[in-house]
Amino acid sequence: MVFDIHLHTRNYSGCSSIEAEDLVRRAEELGLDGIALTDHGIRWPEDRVEALREACGVHDLVIIPGQEITCYNGSWKREGDFLVFGVKESLGSGLSARELINLVHEQGGVVIAAHPYKRSRRGDTYYGVGDGMADLDVDCIEALHPEHDDAAIQKVRAFAESRGGIPLTGGSDAHELSMVGACTTLFHAPVTCEQDFVDALRKGKVTPRWAK
Ligand SMILES: [Zn+2]
Ligand SMILES: [Zn+2]
Repeated sequence: MVFDIHLHTRNYSGCSSIEAEDLVRRAEELGLDGIALTDHGIRWPEDRVEALREACGVHDLVIIPGQEITCYNGSWKREGDFLVFGVKESLGSGLSARELINLVHEQGGVVIAAHPYKRSRRGDTYYGVGDGMADLDVDCIEALHPEHDDAAIQKVRAFAESRGGIPLTGGSDAHELSMVGACTTLFHAPVTCEQDFVDALRKGKVTPRWAK
């Protein structure tokens, strides 16, 4: 099953131009099996996901609510972005990476290091955690991302292998409709609900893919 697991909607991410209903229709047009909503610091409430499904008349597309969390260390230095799944409340942006990972693991969820080597606008730092991954117990790493060049992907692969094979994912991080599905994750297990999704990620039953 192919999912785009990194998506932003204007419903909850001010930086995105994507209306959630358009996102769902686009995902269906592309033939995706599922999507994950990863708005910044906010998890879509269950009833809103349900309303979205109903408004779009969706039956087959699996919609998983997650969130993307930007972490800061004690002195408000940015540590990077992380995708979180399997935690029921919205986590905002006040946590350090270590605090986030501990909290998510206590609740049975998974943490993916998002675009670890995506460069900042000035190009001198990363918006992702970069080499800081070495000090953190992330469950998966986002290898394929529109702003990861070959060197970034190689670095992620080498690090994941050096740790005995941390599972790798792909996601478009779409903030505009045309980017949806640019990078995706192939699930090698049936995923019909959030628990399946979290289990497959934790067990590494995933492969990153460019486009579908
Ligand atoms: Zn991000
Ligand atoms: Zn994002």
